[in-house]
Amino acid sequence: KSSTDDEGLPHATKKTMADHLRKFEALFNLTPQRMRMIVEAFRESLELGLSKNGQIVPMIPTYVFGWPKGDETGNFLAVDLGGTNLRVCLVTLEGKGKFEITQAKYRLSEEQKQEEGQKLFDFCGGCLKAFVDANQETGLIPKGSILPLGFTFSYPCSQDRIDHGVLIRWTKGFGAPNTEGHDVVQMFRKSLTKHSVPAEIVALTCDTTGTLIASHYVNPKTRIACIFGTGCNAAYMEKVKDIPKIAHLGIDPEQEMAINCEWGAFDSFEHENLPRTKYDQIIDESSNKPGEQAFEKLISGRYLGEILRLIICELIDEGVLFLGQNTYKIEIPYSFDTAFLSLMEMDPTEELLMIIGIFNHFFALETTLAERQFFRALAKLVGRRAARLSACGIAAIVSKMGYLEEGCAVGADGSLYNKYPMFPERVHEGLQDIFGEKGKNIVTYRAEDGSGIGSAIVAAMTKARKDAQIY
Ligand code: BGC
Ligand code: MG
Repeated sequence: KSSTDDEGLPHATKKTMADHLRKFEALFNLTPQRMRMIVEAFRESLELGLSKNGQIVPMIPTYVFGWPKGDETGNFLAVDLGGTNLRVCLVTLEGKGKFEITQAKYRLSEEQKQEEGQKLFDFCGGCLKAFVDANQETGLIPKGSILPLGFTFSYPCSQDRIDHGVLIRWTKGFGAPNTEGHDVVQMFRKSLTKHSVPAEIVALTCDTTGTLIASHYVNPKTRIACIFGTGCNAAYMEKVKDIPKIAHLGIDPEQEMAINCEWGAFDSFEHENLPRTKYDQIIDESSNKPGEQAFEKLISGRYLGEILRLIICELIDEGVLFLGQNTYKIEIPYSFDTAFLSLMEMDPTEELLMIIGIFNHFFALETTLAERQFFRALAKLVGRRAARLSACGIAAIVSKMGYLEEGCAVGADGSLYNKYPMFPERVHEGLQDIFGEKGKNIVTYRAEDGSGIGSAIVAAMTKARKDAQIY
């Protein structure tokens, strides 16, 4: 079953690796027929979410009313508490789809994601204070002014107006206590007061909603926005009359409102529709939120590396890989970054030198060419499945809204979409597998910065409504 290399280390033969690969191909492959079944179930789930509160896919009304006009202007602060970074921005909207942005980024530690919620918001407040002070020095922010602030908080929050949002549940590995069930705007406001930040929170938005608005600002053909990053989600515009669960509010039925789908929750708990492998189940069960975000766990950047690592570890246990080598490093959960999958797929060398480097440098492991080819093929299976499932989500919205004939643009953002090789191409291929030739009418493109620019535009739209006394 194994042979030895130059250093006398036993390695799996080419044939063994090829046999294993076939097994994984069968596990991770998604046929067009299977995809269409997923789309059907997905669409039903979206509709259910619009009809009643508390459904698996939340379909959150955002109180962002319609598309931007493109003539929004002014200075805005934007704070984006994402899955990986905290970003603070000063955005100047100049109208006609033009803008300027100055920003600072801070990496969030795993500890910060688990500490008291108020402490986490206080950290955001402190960073914003430092940013504002620095930019008052440079003269970009006039001293004595109070700037309107758009807060991008990319976790599911139920809203009953735009400057309010109760956290339904943390996602993406966050677990900060005393935050779920609380109004995060109020918590952040407290932090702003504590740090004497001269800013007033006018709007709370999700990154997807911001991306929808920012992308439409520059490309009016945009109908849907998606994030494929540490987490995964989509937003689109719906007529109020098609959101039965808010019928009692008495809003003009013809009025449009953005919906934050929170589609990462699709198929949670029941797990009836998605093709989960045992590796996906292990990830779910050992996560801080078992059962939740079932769709997201198959797709987003937080988990893809872990899927591959679990497969490798299983083959180590079975005595197929790395016999005689010390494998403790790769046995550490979440040690295999999704960026490694990107690099492995991208490696242009015949010897797969980048893959040699990854295993050597980060995990102190020697690999043979046959093993490296196997790892690269595995990365492709995992990455391709993620892209094809993403296509299913987009297709569900397209089919619900009847966008197929006319076609539409889908603004997409996030590290997977922007950095993972072939991700967009695989999404497009998936859309054609689902819809046939017409799938070509649905085109994704690299979105405009939703949590900076988008959040500023939403703040501007909100201010305009307030000034006009429309609530
Ligand atoms: C969150 C969404 C967010 C997405 C992308 C998910 O985990 O629940 O609110 O849009 O990640 O950041
Ligand atoms: Mg983000």
